[in-house]
Amino acid sequence: MGKIISIFNQKGGVGKTTTTINLSAYVASMGKKVLIADIDPQGNSTSGLGIDKNELKCSMYDVIMGMAADKAIRNTVVENMDIIPGTVELAGAEIELTAKFNRENMLKDALYEIKDRYDYIFIDCPPSLGLLTINALTSSNSVIIPIQCEFYALEGVGQLMNTIQLVKKSLNTNLEIQGVVMSMFDGRTNLSIEVVEEVKKYFKGKVYTTIIPRNVKLAEAPSHGLPIMIYDKNSRGAEAYRELAQEFLEYDEE
Ligand code: ADP
Ligand code: MG
Repeated sequence: MGKIISIFNQKGGVGKTTTTINLSAYVASMGKKVLIADIDPQGNSTSGLGIDKNELKCSMYDVIMGMAADKAIRNTVVENMDIIPGTVELAGAEIELTAKFNRENMLKDALYEIKDRYDYIFIDCPPSLGLLTINALTSSNSVIIPIQCEFYALEGVGQLMNTIQLVKKSLNTNLEIQGVVMSMFDGRTNLSIEVVEEVKKYFKGKVYTTIIPRNVKLAEAPSHGLPIMIYDKNSRGAEAYRELAQEFLEYDEE
């Protein structure tokens, strides 16, 4: 049975897309069948995997609006890893969904048909708490929360946890926190170290031991349309995401 995991944090720029692409790629390289579901209107995980959004005949927008998910699935440069691409049309879906019956379950219903073809489906969420995000959380077995190592790291986390609680109460009682990923760590600053400690206190036991360093190769890779695994497999960023994938699988398979 495929497990669906939202990469979720309503703050922008915390590493959701970078984590979606690179965790997915390494998990796929470790022999799992993986699908990325890009539901962010910015479509960064789509372009970050070298897919030209202008050439798409159909995309996540159509899937959320009721088209068979099957038709929108595309291969990627990574073996065992597919994607349902996201485009700017999703911004319209956020609005169109409000008028739909079953509006919180559109993505869940769409993924239901295909989820058993995959070991993992990772949903790259938009930076908001709107209906697209609610659809992601409603579809998911669990969430991975990336948190940037910065002064305001925990700002907004209360709201994030409230949203998870609300979804658990009314739409998806089984939703769990899979893990918290600390991203963009700068080992030269005490601040980064303090932030990790603070987040560990808050999330008790849920924070992955592997911490993702700030690494310029991770920022460069998307402009080449490649995951770090292919762009520069010896970089520190690559090493960190490989370790994260191992840790993820270890905990998940327990
Ligand atoms: P989100 O999806 O949460 O908005 P992104 O993954 O797109 O965040 O990251 C925001 C920006 O920071 C992007 O330009 C990305 O390339 C860069 N970035 C993400 N993680 C790292 C990292 N560990 N080191 C350096 N740059 C990073
Ligand atoms: Mg993103």
